Amino acid sequence: MSNESLANLLKEERRFAPPAELAANANVTAEAYERAAADRLGFWATQAKRLTWATEPTETLDWSNPPFAKWFADGKLNVAYNCVDRHVENGLGDRVAIHFEGEPGDTRSITYAQLQREVSQAANALTELGVTAGDRVAIYLPMIPEAVIAMLACARLGAPHSVVFGGFSADALATRINDADARVVITADGGYRRGKPSALKPAVDEALTKPGTENVRSVLVVRRTGQEDVAWTEGRDVWWHDVVGRQSETHTPEAFDAEHPLFILYTSGTTGKPKGILHTTGGYLTQVAYTHHAVFDLKPETDVYWCTADVGWVTGHSYITYGPLANGATEVLYEGTPDTPHQGRWWEIVQKYGVTVLYTAPTAIRACMKWGDDIPAKYDLSSLRVLGSVGEPINPEAWMWYRKHIGADQAPIVDTWWQTETGGMMLSPLPGVTETKPGSAQRPLPGIAATVVDDEAREVPDGGGGYLVLTEPWPSMLRTIWGDDQRYLDTYWSRFEGKYFAGDGAKKDEDGDIWLLGRVDDVMLVSGHNISTTEVESALVSHPKVAEAAVVGATDPQTTQSICAFVILRGTTAEDEGLVEELRAHVGKQLGPIAKPKRVLPVAELPKTRSGKIMRRLLRDVAENRDLGDVSTLTDSGVMDLIQAKLPGAA
Ligand code: ATP
Ligand code: MG
Repeated sequence: MSNESLANLLKEERRFAPPAELAANANVTAEAYERAAADRLGFWATQAKRLTWATEPTETLDWSNPPFAKWFADGKLNVAYNCVDRHVENGLGDRVAIHFEGEPGDTRSITYAQLQREVSQAANALTELGVTAGDRVAIYLPMIPEAVIAMLACARLGAPHSVVFGGFSADALATRINDADARVVITADGGYRRGKPSALKPAVDEALTKPGTENVRSVLVVRRTGQEDVAWTEGRDVWWHDVVGRQSETHTPEAFDAEHPLFILYTSGTTGKPKGILHTTGGYLTQVAYTHHAVFDLKPETDVYWCTADVGWVTGHSYITYGPLANGATEVLYEGTPDTPHQGRWWEIVQKYGVTVLYTAPTAIRACMKWGDDIPAKYDLSSLRVLGSVGEPINPEAWMWYRKHIGADQAPIVDTWWQTETGGMMLSPLPGVTETKPGSAQRPLPGIAATVVDDEAREVPDGGGGYLVLTEPWPSMLRTIWGDDQRYLDTYWSRFEGKYFAGDGAKKDEDGDIWLLGRVDDVMLVSGHNISTTEVESALVSHPKVAEAAVVGATDPQTTQSICAFVILRGTTAEDEGLVEELRAHVGKQLGPIAKPKRVLPVAELPKTRSGKIMRRLLRDVAENRDLGDVSTLTDSGVMDLIQAKLPGAA
């Protein structure tokens, strides 16, 4: 971004108050903001009491060597004990922890008591395979209960896990195994994806032929599909049902230091090469448990919670495995895609289990919009009472659709801003407190300090735009980039003295509420104005014929950059000149003439990461006729060939 602050183009006037009944019974009220503001560390020390500690911490934050934080450093606890055993000890053993729904329609409901037995067996099996505290374990599994069980078994042993998306290639897996120096890989023969079994084990076999993976001594294989002939390396490969199945169902958890490493997780790679983010134990679990309780207003006795993310990304770690289970929630775990075998599958699941809290991503909401309003209308969604969004800025039109067609114009939407690095939610409305605004994450949660600054690190006034920064350490913050403290300092702490640089553009509205405007790297400079990709995309999506849009700035001799928009049309794929003009005019009317795209290109698909985020950097590479950058986390590389073919003169 140049010195000019980010232009504030989109005006959104719609407001939605919390439902009275939800507000009256909310877990967290406005008072929490005041309490946290008066004594931030005291507030977090109180939240840490949600956990059961083997040794209670006496110190909250040690910030004597910034930015290397220690939270609750003299406390000791076991994460798996907190997520499983203590609920059983509290008489909740018969409560369902996980309702698993396989893509082919097979189901399993697992109580907390069963979960305790299975996690104990898995921990005993890993011990037999030689895993001890501190060893890294790679997990490469489909969305099946064993993914959660494996994570908890690692946590139980103090062995940091590195979960790798089941959809990643052998290369991506090998890079991550190598970087974390993993000793064991937990995988499956395959999983179900789009109505078919899809093999996983061959990618592990291939990954383990690559240099840097020699230290892997065991591969533990879950039989999920049972359909393929599975290649087997004797002495290295073992079946989960053999080794885990014969273990004792009891295991005594050991307490670890609050700063003991819990996991390494690589970022989505939206802006470049993924970074290995390190999270630790006590502060992480405190913040994910608190935010899950506060932001979803979770009532563990009655709610049925469903987060549609994959466990391979941070939302799955914090809001499928650790936060909900620490809170004793009942949750749905679904293996497959939203449109298998039909486009109503998600809504069928909501109806079947009576899901009350749904947490998903804007990309999924836009896909459902594209498929049509009549699909969710066929199901009873009246159980839903809180709706969450995460992963990208949510376009106001998608927000309105989500509220109207999924939330019956009633359920509050919590738009949660956070990152792999932050470990837990940072900005979000509170469902019983906040008057929500379509498209805004609004304000930092109680105990979190965030603001928007300009190039000189000065806080922008209300109405101004710039960079989102976090101004105080928080319990679930990353501790470093695995094996690379210098990169940790350079990436997050060198842009603004003493502040965490998130890499996202943002603005404050007249009420001081924060709106995320996309990646700083993606901000466009057009004739001296900084323009956000998010605002232009939202203007395009507000046109009835546009299902999705991705906007980039391409080098332009006259205007520095010009706006190039890639759009997926709704109901039509025709490339008619009239429509392109109509869309340009529509943006001009919504945001002003400066934001009119110079080019509008209808495309069939957009390049996305496996976590569903649009990869604008690749579109910029196309628009500027360059070779594509790192594509290792792209869902489908064929998409880029199609898009490149569209652009005259492009490579
Ligand atoms: P990389 O850092 O490798 O480029 P990534 O940033 O996509 O990958 P994640 O940690 O999964 O990896 O994503 C965090 C980012 O997602 C945030 O920095 C932000 O850009 C975006 N994001 C997440 N939630 C929201 C939200 N509610 N509103 C706006 N943006 C969001
Ligand atoms: Mg990032």
